[in-house]
Amino acid sequence: MIRTRFAPSPTGYLHVGGARTALFSFLYAKKHGGQFILRIEDTDAERSTKESEESLIRDLKWLGFDWDEGPDKGGNYGPYRQSERVNMYQKYAQKLVDEGKAYYVYAEHEEMEKLREKLISESKAPHYTREMLQSLLSPQEVERRKKASKKPAIYFSMERKERILHDLVKGEVKFGEDSMGDFAILRSNGLPTYNFAVVIDDALMKITHVIRGDDHLSNTVKQMALYEALGFEVPSFAHLSTILGPDRTRLSKRHGSTSIEEYRKRGYLPQAMVNYLSLLGWSHPELKEIISLDELIKVFDLDRVSKNPAVYDEKKLTWMNGQYVRNLPDDEFYEYAKPFIVPKLFSEEEYTTNKKWITLALRSVKSEVETLIELPEKLSVYLKEPEVDSALRTNLEKSGVLMAFKSLQNAYESLDEWKVEDILKVTKKVLKESKVKGKDFYHPLREILTGKDSGPDLVNLIFLLGRENVVSRLKKFLEA
Ligand code: GLU
Repeated sequence: MIRTRFAPSPTGYLHVGGARTALFSFLYAKKHGGQFILRIEDTDAERSTKESEESLIRDLKWLGFDWDEGPDKGGNYGPYRQSERVNMYQKYAQKLVDEGKAYYVYAEHEEMEKLREKLISESKAPHYTREMLQSLLSPQEVERRKKASKKPAIYFSMERKERILHDLVKGEVKFGEDSMGDFAILRSNGLPTYNFAVVIDDALMKITHVIRGDDHLSNTVKQMALYEALGFEVPSFAHLSTILGPDRTRLSKRHGSTSIEEYRKRGYLPQAMVNYLSLLGWSHPELKEIISLDELIKVFDLDRVSKNPAVYDEKKLTWMNGQYVRNLPDDEFYEYAKPFIVPKLFSEEEYTTNKKWITLALRSVKSEVETLIELPEKLSVYLKEPEVDSALRTNLEKSGVLMAFKSLQNAYESLDEWKVEDILKVTKKVLKESKVKGKDFYHPLREILTGKDSGPDLVNLIFLLGRENVVSRLKKFLEA
C-alpha cells in the first residue's frame, strides 16, 4: 500500500510551493490506490500557531485534497501533530543513546558556536564529531551541570561513509563520506529536531514515498543515516525542483501572490489553481493543459516530473482561471461568486431571493471575467445608473438618432411582455423604421443604458435590466 504525506510546519500560510508538494503527494497516493496523510510539524513551539494550522487545513481543503488520516481526522498511526508525539521521539533518542549511536552533549549553543568558528578559521568543514563535542567541557564541568539538573541535548553519531540516494525525480544523488557531521536529534528542552522527528514519524506512519521540495535534499542524507541506525526501512524519496519566477529568480511576491489564500481572495477557482499547480514541473503524457483533478489522479505519475526548475507564470494561471470560469455550470458559478458579491452588491438575503436573476446576470458576464474579483465591476452595468453623457446626447441630436431612441422608449413601454424574443423583435423594428445604421444605433444604446462601450450581449442586458430601468434610463437621457 502506497502511503504519502504532506507535512507542513504551521508557521505561516500555505504557499504555492507547499501546495504543489501537497498536490503531487496527494496525486501519487491516489493514482496508486494508496493513502495520503496530513501531519502537522509543530515542534517549533515559538513559531507554530493554531491559526496557521487552521489556515493550512482550510486552504488544503479548498484545493480539494482529501487526506485519509490527519490531525482533524485521526487514523491508525496518530497522533498527527508532532507536539503530541514528543514521548515517542524521546523514547527513540534514548534507544540510540543506549545503543551507543547517540550521545549527550552538555555544552551550550554559544560554546559550540566557538568550536564552529574555530573549525572554519582552520579551513575545516564545520562538522562535529563526538570527540569534539564531548571535549568542549571538562568532566568536572559536565558533573557540575548534571548536578545542577541541566538537561543535555542528544547528538546523533553520524557514521561516516558515502551514501547514494536513488531519488525518483533527481536520479542518483551521491553524498560523500564527509558531507555531514554529527547533529542534534533532541534539544536540551526535550523537543526533537526536524530531521529526527520526520524520520520517526515517516517510519512509524508507514510512509512509503516522501515527496517534498528539493530544499530538503541535504537533510535527506542525515535522515538516511537515521533510518539505518534505527533499523527502519528507508522510504522512497522524490525531491521536487524549485519554482522560479519568469525572470528565473526564486519565486517571491514580485512575481504575484505567493499564498493560496490570496489567490482565493483574488477570485481564483480551486480547480484552476490545482490544474496550474500540476503543471509546475509535471506534464500530461499528451501535453494537455486543461486537466481536471479526477483526470490528474488517473494520469499523474512521478516519471513525468521534471528535474529542472519549474517556471511560475501568474499570467498563465489567470488565463487558465478564465477558462475554468467559462466552463462553470450556472449553479456552481452562483456559489463561487457569492463571497465577491455579498455584501458588496447584495445582502445575504437579496442574494438568495434574487437567485434566478443573479444567475442569469452572472451568466451574461461569464465570458468577460478571468477572476471572480472582477464580478462587481462587470455587474455594475445592471446596478449603477450611468451619468448622462451630454456630448453623446448632442451628437445624437444632431444626427437625428435621438428620435429613434424616443420611439424605442415608447415601444418598450407598450410591450405586452418583457421577454428576450419580444425585446429583440421590437428593437429591430424600431431600428429598421428609423433608417439609422445598426452600429449608430446599438453602440449609443449601450452607452445610454450602461455608460460603457462594451459588456454583455445587448438584448440580454436590456432584458436583465428590466423594463423599468431601461425606460427610466432612456427617459433620463432623452429629457436631459
Ligand atoms: N515540515 C517540513 C517543511 O515544512 C517538512 C519537510 C518534509 O516534507 O520532510 O518543510
